[in-house]
Amino acid sequence: MADTLDLYLAGEWTQGTGDRHHRLISPATGEHIADVPLASAADIDRAVAAAREAQDDFRFWSPFERADLLHRIAAAIETMVPEIARIQTLEQGKPYHAESMADIAEANQYFLNAAEDVKRLTGETIPTTDRNKRMFTYHRPVGVWAAITPWNFPVTIPLEYVGPGLATGNAVIVKPPQFTSWALLELAKAFDQAGVPKGLVSIIPGGGDIGSMLVGHPGIDAIGFTGSSETGRKIIAAMGIKRSIMEMSGNGPTIVTDDADVAAAARAAVFGAYYNAGQVCCATERVIVTEAVHDEFVEHALKAADTVVLGDPFDQATTMGPLNNEPTAAKMDRHIADAADRGALLLTGGGRAPGHATDLYYDLTVLDRVPEAAAVSQEESFGPVLPILTAADDEDAAGIANRTRLGLQAAVFTTSLSRAFWYADRIRSGTVVINDSTDFWETFQPFGGAAGTDTGWGRGGIEEFTDLQTLVIDLGSAE
Ligand code: NAD
Repeated sequence: MADTLDLYLAGEWTQGTGDRHHRLISPATGEHIADVPLASAADIDRAVAAAREAQDDFRFWSPFERADLLHRIAAAIETMVPEIARIQTLEQGKPYHAESMADIAEANQYFLNAAEDVKRLTGETIPTTDRNKRMFTYHRPVGVWAAITPWNFPVTIPLEYVGPGLATGNAVIVKPPQFTSWALLELAKAFDQAGVPKGLVSIIPGGGDIGSMLVGHPGIDAIGFTGSSETGRKIIAAMGIKRSIMEMSGNGPTIVTDDADVAAAARAAVFGAYYNAGQVCCATERVIVTEAVHDEFVEHALKAADTVVLGDPFDQATTMGPLNNEPTAAKMDRHIADAADRGALLLTGGGRAPGHATDLYYDLTVLDRVPEAAAVSQEESFGPVLPILTAADDEDAAGIANRTRLGLQAAVFTTSLSRAFWYADRIRSGTVVINDSTDFWETFQPFGGAAGTDTGWGRGGIEEFTDLQTLVIDLGSAE
């Protein structure tokens, strides 16, 4: 029996006034698990109006009062972790034991980090040329944010906006994709339990149509977008003069140098390729290995790939579940076929795995001798594939790494400190990780895109959710 979900809209749990529903089908089981109501334009107007009204009062709460609220939200979430993780696995496909539990157990951190940060968010006292003037800066809330989020981390990515957004006195309307919105709606019960003012947070699942209504809405002051560069481009063109944080696509290379611990590099690269079935913005999308260590790397990578268990994501032994959706699987098909056409060698995997509940279970695929021009090297694959490219030397490796516009998070394996800095100085990427996976992540990491690429801007820091106001006081009349 499919569950009928409600929207969390303008402080109510409601079906809204739209006449459409989304049939939520589990990528893990193929079953129809829930019906998600899709909001009407009038519902969106109501959510925005409620957010504006709630924020108009909330902006006067002191940072300490807001921090208390965030602590109450975090405490409420802690009691809900297994159920939210279960729903996330059902609708998203990631392994329950190996990933989903840890992912949701971390959800409270987005509130706890922001609660700590906001108590130390200070302005400045600025010297003036006029002895009668005093000048200060204050961090004011921006207003009402629309957070438009993807399906790969359907709970935690929205919280990257809701946590710091609330801490700094904003309202946040989240628009998750309709096909991964259930776990987040479940988590929203924590907002009610914690006493979040009604309307301050809304969750309105939907596709690009609902997203673009929010982007263009005059009552929305700022956009927080996490998704593909392609959609980001459309949002930037449509949003007009609004504040924004844009977190977009990546094509994270792992570079393996001559002096690397090659076995460790291979394990990290394979992890970065299969974790969340490769559906991670900072997944290891390609490995650039110098010719001298190529054979050793391939040997270790195949050994590591052999340990990956594709299967039912609720099974304790499973380390990789199905892909979330058909367009992602079709893109994998296209990238692998293109690489083969261009002469790449298929070492393992290569397609959809038969015998599972849906056609979305994809074998971990290792491709060797991949030409730089192959789609799997140039574009984001967003699936469980490890393309291996070879470079003659460090200059060549850095050149290959930089010849895409998707430098979000890169990794370099080397035992030389000077080589580590040499690469960090040259790789155009939002983050460079030395001797760990491109999938390295901390909830407080300043994470984001690099200038000169299509990966976006903003690092998710608490000050980005504020508007700096300068206050100037003339004391002349007081003399
Ligand atoms: P997507 O761009 O297809 O969709 C993202 C969101 O935008 C969804 O909610 C979607 O409904 C909405 N949307 C689509 N068209 C819109 C429009 N015209 N106006 C407003 N909203 C619109 O991305 P996806 O497939 O959901 O997610 C995968 C992508 O997200 C990958 O490229 C991945 O790298 C990226 N991503 C980036 C980060 C990061 O932090 N940089 C993190 C996770 C995912």
